[in-house]
Amino acid sequence: MTAVSDLVGAAHQPTWPEPEVLRDTIELLRRLPPLVEAQQCARLAGELAAVTRGERVVLQAGDCAELFSESGPEAIRAKTAQLAGLGESLSRTGRAPILIGRMAGQYAKPRSHRAEIGADDAEVPVYLGDAVNDLAPTAAGRRPDPRRLLLAYAHAARALQTLAAGPAVYTSHEALLLEYEHALRRTDPVRDEVFASSAHMVWIGERTRAPGGPHIGFADGITNPVGVKIGPEADPAEILAVVERLAWNRPPGRVSLIVRMGADRIGERLPPIVRALGEHAANVVWLSDPMHGNTVRSAQGLKTRVLRRLTDEVEQFCAVLHRHGRHPGGLHLEITPDEVSECVDESADLSTGPDHARYRSACDPRLNPGQAGALVERFTDVLTT
Ligand code: PEP
Ligand code: MN
Repeated sequence: MTAVSDLVGAAHQPTWPEPEVLRDTIELLRRLPPLVEAQQCARLAGELAAVTRGERVVLQAGDCAELFSESGPEAIRAKTAQLAGLGESLSRTGRAPILIGRMAGQYAKPRSHRAEIGADDAEVPVYLGDAVNDLAPTAAGRRPDPRRLLLAYAHAARALQTLAAGPAVYTSHEALLLEYEHALRRTDPVRDEVFASSAHMVWIGERTRAPGGPHIGFADGITNPVGVKIGPEADPAEILAVVERLAWNRPPGRVSLIVRMGADRIGERLPPIVRALGEHAANVVWLSDPMHGNTVRSAQGLKTRVLRRLTDEVEQFCAVLHRHGRHPGGLHLEITPDEVSECVDESADLSTGPDHARYRSACDPRLNPGQAGALVERFTDVLTT
C-alpha cells in the first residue's frame, strides 16, 4: 500500500480534480498484471553492470513526451528500428549496445510554466503529458483527468506487445507520477523483492531528485536499475547523498547518472561531481543527455537545440570522464524516426530554422534520423579513438 506520507512534498504532481476517481483508478491499477517482468529488469541490471566495466554501451532514447496515439505497432516498430540502427553504429566501439527506449510509458512531464496561451488566445494550463491531460490547447483538454492513468497503463501495455516481437529494446520513462508508480509496484516472486513493474528502468528528473524527497524514496524502494538526471546546478555533496542512498548494498550499474549540464557548463560542473563520488564513480553508469542543458529559442521563438552544441557537450562529457579514469557509458537522447525539423544543425540556422511546418513534438525538440545518426557516430568515434 502507498501510505499518504510517501507522497508528502512531492513536486510536480498534477492537481487532480476528482479525488474519488483518482482513488478508484489507483485501486484498479494495483490489481492489474505487471507491465514488465522482474526477470527482465534483473537482466537489464546485469547488462548495466557491464557498462561500468567498459564492456557495454547504452543508448537510451525516444520522445520527450510520448503520445497515446503512437502506441500502435507501426509507430513502435519505426522507433525500435531507429534504435536498432543507431545501435549498429555503436557496435563499432567494440562494446555491444544496450537499447533502452524512452518508450511505452513516457507519458508525464514536469514543466517550468503552469500556463500558456492556447487556442483563441486564451490562457490554458500547460500540457503535462498524455497520462495527465490532453495536448489540445483548450481549457477542457488541459484539465487533468485521473482516468488517464489507466489509459497510460493500457497504452504502455499495447506498446509492449509490439516490443515483445521486435529487437531487444528495454523500456524506460521518468518516474514522475508517484501515485501511478507506487500502484504498479509488484513483488518479484523469485527474489521476494519489490520492483517497479511500469518499465524496466525508470529515472528521476532534474526537478524531483532531492536526496530526501519522495521520488528518490520511491527509487530507493525498488530493485530496478534507476537513473538520476543531474543538471548544472547539482551540488556534488547532494549527488553523493543520492548515489549513496540508491546504490547502497546493490550491485554496480544500479544507478545511472544522466548528465544534462549544457555545453557551456559541463566542463566546469561535472569534474567536482565525479571527484566527490570517489569510488562510487566507478560503479555508476555515466550517461550523457546533451539535450536538456542546451535548449534555446530560434528567431521565430520556437524551442530548439543546435546539433553542434549537443556534440560539443558529448565530447566534453567523454573527455571529463576519461580524465578521471571513468567510462563514458552512453547517450540519453530525444529522437524520432520522423523527418521533423525541431533541432537545427548549426547556430547560424537559428535565424531561419527550425521549419514550423515540420515541428511536431508534443514537448521538447527531438533529433531527426540524420541528426541522431550524426551524434551517435560522433560518440562512437570518441570511444574508438
Ligand atoms: C526530460 O527528460 O524530458 C526532462 C524533463 O529532463 P530533465 O529532468 O533533465 O529536465
Ligand atoms: Mn525533454
